[in-house]
Amino acid sequence: MPLSRPVDSEAKLRATSFRVTLMLAATGLALLIVIIYAGLSMNRSAWQYEHARVDAELTEIVNQTLMEQKPWAFWDEAALFAHHGRIPRKWFEEQVAASLVEGYRHEQIYLLDPKDRVIHGYGRGRRLTDQQLKALWPSIRPMLHEIRTGIRRPYIRRDAAFGSAQKRYEKLSSARSGRWAANILKDGGRPVIVSIMTITPTTEARLASDRPHLLLSVVPLDQQIFDAIGRHLDLEGLKLTPTRRSNPGAIPFVTDDGRTAGMLAWTAATPGEPMFTRILPLFAILLAVALFYARLVLRRLRDTHSLLYEQEAHSRFLALHDGLSQLPNRRHFMTELRRKLERLAESESPHRLCVAYVDVDRFKDVNDVIGHGAGDALVTQIGPRLKTLLGPDDLLARLGGDEFAILKIVADGDGQRLLGEAIISAFTHPFLIEGHCIEVTASVGIAVAHPGDAEPEGVLRDADISLYKAKEEGRNRYVLFKRGMADEIHARRRTEGDLRTAIGTEQICIEYQPLISTRTGRVSAFEALARWQHPSRGMIPPLEFIPIAEQGGLMLPLGDHILEKVFREAAAFDGVELAINLSPIQLRQRRLPDRLDQLARRFSVDPGKVILEITESMLLQADEVTSEIFDRLRRSGFRLALDDFGTGYSSLGYLGRFAFDKIKIDRSFISSSSMETLRPILEGIVHIGRGLRVDVVAEGIESAEELAMVQALGCNEAQGYYISRPMPITSVPAFLASERTPIERPKPPRLARG
Ligand code: C2E
Ligand code: MG
Ligand code: MG
Repeated sequence: MPLSRPVDSEAKLRATSFRVTLMLAATGLALLIVIIYAGLSMNRSAWQYEHARVDAELTEIVNQTLMEQKPWAFWDEAALFAHHGRIPRKWFEEQVAASLVEGYRHEQIYLLDPKDRVIHGYGRGRRLTDQQLKALWPSIRPMLHEIRTGIRRPYIRRDAAFGSAQKRYEKLSSARSGRWAANILKDGGRPVIVSIMTITPTTEARLASDRPHLLLSVVPLDQQIFDAIGRHLDLEGLKLTPTRRSNPGAIPFVTDDGRTAGMLAWTAATPGEPMFTRILPLFAILLAVALFYARLVLRRLRDTHSLLYEQEAHSRFLALHDGLSQLPNRRHFMTELRRKLERLAESESPHRLCVAYVDVDRFKDVNDVIGHGAGDALVTQIGPRLKTLLGPDDLLARLGGDEFAILKIVADGDGQRLLGEAIISAFTHPFLIEGHCIEVTASVGIAVAHPGDAEPEGVLRDADISLYKAKEEGRNRYVLFKRGMADEIHARRRTEGDLRTAIGTEQICIEYQPLISTRTGRVSAFEALARWQHPSRGMIPPLEFIPIAEQGGLMLPLGDHILEKVFREAAAFDGVELAINLSPIQLRQRRLPDRLDQLARRFSVDPGKVILEITESMLLQADEVTSEIFDRLRRSGFRLALDDFGTGYSSLGYLGRFAFDKIKIDRSFISSSSMETLRPILEGIVHIGRGLRVDVVAEGIESAEELAMVQALGCNEAQGYYISRPMPITSVPAFLASERTPIERPKPPRLARG
């Protein structure tokens, strides 16, 4: 169950990446705008500067016009004529107007009397009347008014430079100062310079008048003038066009009285041009490169983030999952259990939270017999099988080794039972591992969490206890937890712990019970029976501690301890056979034959005198491995007895398949009370034994009648309290010396123990 990547982290990074790109793009755009703005501003400033210079040049020309007019207006001769009130036309035309028109390109020259009436007019070889001034007259009037009254005209001051120059002259001459006005005005559709100056004496002060005559010039502002300005200012294509004509680069040419008199245009300087032609493309390239790298870096960042996230998620996964099965581990399971318990405490749901503790039966055997690789493969195959039992909210975890746990919400009532059955049946089909068809079963302990249960450990412990119970009851089953089970299991666990420490010590000892020949009455064998002398609890019988050792994984060390002990003491059984019980777990150990050979050699025991007793239930699980071990044992010379015959699921087929030397009829068949009813069975067993040439032993002979009966039935050997109870090794020699008597007169039983 890999952890899903949280979308918001990815989205956040995407948003940040998007924001950074956007910011970069916005900054780039802003800089782009700044560059464009700077370029345009530079162009505009240059243009404004040029415009101002054109304007200044026009002012200069206006002042120049006054300068040109000045010698004929500030003139004693002219003042004299005016003083006398009569200015001859001829003199005016020849001495004044012609000079100005021909010398300075003035277009029209007028002489105005003190009442501002046109006395004379002259222009380009022809006389002019006040009619020619008609269009200009409204604009001229404020100029005349200023000259006459000194009240400033509303026009911009074009004649300032001329004025300041005249001030200097005034200091030098004694003449009464003249007055003047010069402006650019609109004459019909065209712009003209109108320059008006009082006729003023320069030396003869007496000729001065309060209301003098005026000299008025009209100079056209034509293309010639603009060409000259253009040349002077180094402006290409400066020209004035009529207003009507639309010219994109042109600006209105406004006269001093605020009227538009055409459009002024020139090829403006563009100092901002390099901004557009060089800096802008360069910047655009830089911006593109920066954006590209930013995207690259951001993508790298994202990739690195993804990688880190994946690594982190993987680490988190590893921390919460088991590496082999990929299932959640114990820690994850406990966290989830705690979370669900908390939720259960808050809810009123009738459903129950249930924990199933699953343990594979005899998993160790799979490891021991086929190898650890097969054990691992089995674990990985069990996961998917159990997963099919889960609902969307349930959890399957591997708690370790062959232990799994299921956390499931079940309906109250049969829910637990159904879960238990489902788990057991999940193991009914064999597992195919490394070419082997392996049949395994599982034991399951199920506990249910009650609303009061707060600790997950408690619920899991209950499930574990019921699992233990399931194992104890014979495996391949499920057990539901019940109160009181815990104490029982704890006691068992304690015993298991004690047994662990007892192995290898003198607490585990052996007693020997003789078997006699029914024919001779002589001792034919001794059976070694393990005993546990518990330091505080006293004698614990093997029927109690052998299963504990088997379930607790202690059977192999315990079995080996017993084997060594028995072989060490074997010298005492001079001439008789020695029977040793083997647990099925020992019999699945490949090294068992070698171990027995080694013990036989070491203690000089003849394998032919050793009978290995195998319980009948063992045969149920027998496979090729067991058969091979049996064969090897036989080849070494050991003999085999089938113990407790009749108690398991006896199949007579086993008797043929595994060549036994003896069959030991279980003592439950031997009792004088039930003997009559069981007689046909016993007869049958003896008959089969004979047919297979196998000795038949009757166990549990407790009375002379029973002995007589088995004798009559034809059993070859007998064993039981009537003959002798199991005895310590120390009692064996004496028993052997005294008990070799014919069976016809068996002696009363000698009890080895009280
Ligand atoms: P078993 O192999 O069938 O051993 C015979 C059991 O019957 C012994 O019990 C013996 O004391 C008891 N017995 C013998 N005669 C009579 C009789 O007349 N009446 C009654 N009521 N019982 C009689 P024990 O010693 O308690 O052993 C019980 C079982 O524990 C054995 O059954 C055997 O299966 C197992 N066992 C004992 N020692 C070992 C051992 O070293 N290894 C293994 N794997 N199992 C052992
Ligand atoms: Mg036995
Ligand atoms: Mg037996």
